[in-house]
Amino acid sequence: MAQELRLFGSPHYRDYRFLVTLSDQMIHFGIEHHESDDSRLPERVFLSPNAGREAGGLLAHEFAHSWDGKFRRPADLSTPEFETPMKTDLLWVYEGLTTYLGNLLATRSGLWTPKDYHEYIAGIAAGMGPGRPGRTWRPLLDTAVAVPGMFSFGGWPNWSRGSDYYEEGNLLWLEVAAIIHDQSHGHKSMDDFCREFFGGPNKGPELKTYTFGDVVNSLNRVVPYDWAKFFHERLDSTSAQAPLAGLTASGWKLVYDSQPPASGNSTAGLNVEYSIGLSLRRDGTVSDSIYDGPAFRAGITPGMKVVGVNGRMFTPEALSDAIEATRSGARKLSLLVLNNEYYKICEIEYAGGARYAHLARIEGTPDSLDEILKPLPPG
Ligand SMILES: [Zn+2]
Repeated sequence: MAQELRLFGSPHYRDYRFLVTLSDQMIHFGIEHHESDDSRLPERVFLSPNAGREAGGLLAHEFAHSWDGKFRRPADLSTPEFETPMKTDLLWVYEGLTTYLGNLLATRSGLWTPKDYHEYIAGIAAGMGPGRPGRTWRPLLDTAVAVPGMFSFGGWPNWSRGSDYYEEGNLLWLEVAAIIHDQSHGHKSMDDFCREFFGGPNKGPELKTYTFGDVVNSLNRVVPYDWAKFFHERLDSTSAQAPLAGLTASGWKLVYDSQPPASGNSTAGLNVEYSIGLSLRRDGTVSDSIYDGPAFRAGITPGMKVVGVNGRMFTPEALSDAIEATRSGARKLSLLVLNNEYYKICEIEYAGGARYAHLARIEGTPDSLDEILKPLPPG
């Protein structure tokens, strides 16, 4: 809470309460309110050795919404009554900037380590491409505009895209931070923008709406730049490449190696998207198959269940080992999959071994990423 108040300058609530449900009997997510959150987490999460990592991002995110989303809200999302449809085109600010700020504040407050932050950014950067066909037809802006109709379908999120304005929004605001740093020669930062846009006297739970133009004007008061052109380019892009300019400008790059991410938690599924192109639940159910990836070409689609790996019963570990063994061994994998009540054997042509995403420093460049992750001092 100290870090959030230092960042924004002043609160816009009378008091703020964290309402936290710890239960395995409901789905896990968070909802923001002006003077409280409503965060729903696994029953034993606070007993986990990784409690800060697993819960910290969500709590910091929901708290940041008191400013970004509740105090300042897109005018089109502030409708007078329920009959007027909300327009969601500025969710890359409402949720994208909150994702950026929540992760930043989780790290500044010590709930996340800088390494946790790096692994998170590596995960979302890798998930944006290359090899993610969804970005080649649906731009970031459309993931925000289309969201009211987007949650009813089943598989293929790599093609249809989901609510990517959260994760791609995080990368976008990381780039905004790098541009402010660069254009001001290190004298200004996103913290200045936060005080400019979210500051002002505390009048209790006040609502102050904004438009795209207001965001641009506030940024221009921090540092003059063609922000409108910048945002339009990023929001309308259908490049197959992930928007990593902010990461590069901060002295970091995305790399792949055979080490699984340190921040993987034990109940999460198996993400082998960057090797054979699958993401699976722990029981082997395929939640996504990357379009035109090795598993896709072998006939594996979302909803099928992997039950055998190279003639042996499926476990996440058996599949991980078999993928790594392709580096020097058979250069292919044989998966037994269950499709409704039919079994079939799918031969995957793949020889690259395990591939997981991480961040690595670009040698010889200044590290401005870890600079912004440092806690703000009092006063
Ligand atoms: Zn949110």
